[in-house]
Amino acid sequence: MMIDRQSRKALFETVAQRVIASADELTDLDRAIGDGDHGSNMRRGFEAVLATVDELSAKNLGESLKGVGTTLVMKVGGASGPLYGTLFMSLGKSLEDEVTREQVADAFAAAIEAVKARGKSDAGQKTMLDVLLPVLAVLREGGPDMAARLKARAKAAAEDTIPMRAIRGRASFLGERSIGHMDPGARSSALIVDAVAEFMEGLA
Ligand code: ADP
Ligand code: MG
Repeated sequence: MMIDRQSRKALFETVAQRVIASADELTDLDRAIGDGDHGSNMRRGFEAVLATVDELSAKNLGESLKGVGTTLVMKVGGASGPLYGTLFMSLGKSLEDEVTREQVADAFAAAIEAVKARGKSDAGQKTMLDVLLPVLAVLREGGPDMAARLKARAKAAAEDTIPMRAIRGRASFLGERSIGHMDPGARSSALIVDAVAEFMEGLA
């Protein structure tokens, strides 16, 4: 598939609008097991993406994604800012405007490894990785109805963090008491994946 300038703009707008519209939900989740700032952190970051979307999407896909990553690092703050920044900057390193599913999967895998390295984290620790990794598996698999399956997997994976005990991030300070709540970063990752999948449906 070809991700031209207009598509890049539509992609970034779709993702940013979804995150911004869900800020209250993310804040409520973070209030339960964190410090209640995940929604406002993410809204600030993606409002900055929206404000500069023409400039960001004018560059090729790789450079555009790096620009989004840099914006998120500068604006989101908290633990999640550098991690989402790393994810987008790493995606930008290898993707060209004309991409195959396999190339996206490889780039996404490398980006997840970069997040793991930066967060010193891995699967099963009740973080955004518990959504990103299952989503990567769906992307690798390929097959029909990719967008619908990505959405469903992302939503379910975020819900699967509810019974987990947090081992990384602020929620880990709660120990056992982190059990029984959805991880805010897992939910924001699911929202981003859902928006990307919606964009993919628009391309098809
Ligand atoms: P803070 O915890 O600094 O207030 P946010 O509230 O914006 O930052 O983000 C919290 C989210 O960041 C968590 O729900 C979790 O998904 C993610 N997170 C925190 N630490 C890590 C880590 N080491 N690795 C992966 N994700 C992490
Ligand atoms: Mg927080």
